[in-house]
Amino acid sequence: MALKSLADAFHDELRDVLSAEKQLLKALPKMSKAATAPQLIRAFEKHLKETKAQVERVEKAFGDTGKAAKAKKCEAMEGLITEASSMMEEDASPEVMDALLIACAQKVEHYEIATYGTLCTWAEILGYSQALKLLKANIAEEEATDEALTALARTINAEADEPEE
Ligand code: FE
Ligand code: FE
Ligand code: FE
Repeated sequence: MALKSLADAFHDELRDVLSAEKQLLKALPKMSKAATAPQLIRAFEKHLKETKAQVERVEKAFGDTGKAAKAKKCEAMEGLITEASSMMEEDASPEVMDALLIACAQKVEHYEIATYGTLCTWAEILGYSQALKLLKANIAEEEATDEALTALARTINAEADEPEE
């Protein structure tokens, strides 16, 4: 399909983020399983719930485009998840693994923030007010998650810095 207008680009990018969120739905349970610190596990579980709602919001956002809500594989998210999977196979101490998991998760959140930022700007230009509202709700959750992970990293990274006895 030829992409000839900003509306086409918006639809294409919305398909990309739908794929990204769906991929994350599968990856987050694996990340909570690999985590040790209870607060980190809780953070991953919370974001899994949010991600489920985000998928629904993205699907609703297609309404303004008048086109099908069909995902298109997000290769960047696939890459970020592949990297996280390799990380989880490393022989790391629990504290170090938690620090690595936070690093992987924050890369994912930053990628999502970048994508939703672009989509919000385009929705504004295109006058897609319903989509804009939904996408703003998603970006707010990604930003809050990123901030929560930064706060967790302060304690967890300090623990990872203590050598194993
Ligand atoms: Fe998300
Ligand atoms: Fe993507
Ligand atoms: Fe997220």
